Amino acid sequence: MNKSKSVAHELKTPLAVIKTQIDVLNQQDTITLEDYQSTLKVIERTVGKMSDLLDTLLETNQDKSNLNEILNIEEIIQDVIEDLDVIAKRKNIKLSYSINQNPISYGNSVLMYRCLYNLVENAIKYNQTGGKVEIQCEACPSNYSIRILDNGIGIPNEKIDKIFEPYYRCEKSNKDGIGLGLAMVKSIVTLHKGHIIVESEMNQGSQFILNFPQLKKESIVL
Ligand code: ADP
Repeated sequence: MNKSKSVAHELKTPLAVIKTQIDVLNQQDTITLEDYQSTLKVIERTVGKMSDLLDTLLETNQDKSNLNEILNIEEIIQDVIEDLDVIAKRKNIKLSYSINQNPISYGNSVLMYRCLYNLVENAIKYNQTGGKVEIQCEACPSNYSIRILDNGIGIPNEKIDKIFEPYYRCEKSNKDGIGLGLAMVKSIVTLHKGHIIVESEMNQGSQFILNFPQLKKESIVL
């Protein structure tokens, strides 16, 4: 397993623990106060672990040396698609990507993988059965953009700025999740000197557009 995949798995484990705890509680006919208390204790501890993991990931990368890897964006996109394909297939969602040329840039591939993974996972999660998710990468000499498009439920206009806040979830969000995915996306994009634009229409879909500067080939020291 490569480094980026192992990070995804590390984040998935605590989420799975929380989900199982809630499922077990929901399946009980009668729930006592003790049941609630012990479930809450496990969930609290697990959220703590997840938060530590996020801190580690983000803190580690304040160190500039960690942004010095040459990114293979196309390979990262392919990895994300491969890893999320099972989930997409369960909802009969078509996942595809297009790229005009592989950008040459620097950064941290573990974090960039996590950033795109979170966005594509949301595009699947907040989509209808039979929907579409597309990743489009376009590079020009000075910068590159990555768009994640879905034709899902959409985000109300007044909530677009809020969705990047930690733990924020739109009211109608009845899917699994704790509201940390986009906060992490924002930190990673900022760390890579990029910015994000979100365009969305209710019941039509959303696009998350990431713009990053591209390093000139000659300035990369191999
Ligand atoms: P989570 O998915 O765990 O709730 P995120 O931070 O990834 O947390 O997203 C925050 C909220 O933004 C989600 O709860 C959802 O309401 C909304 N959201 C994110 N991505 C999309 C999308 N592609 N389509 C519609 N809503 C979205």
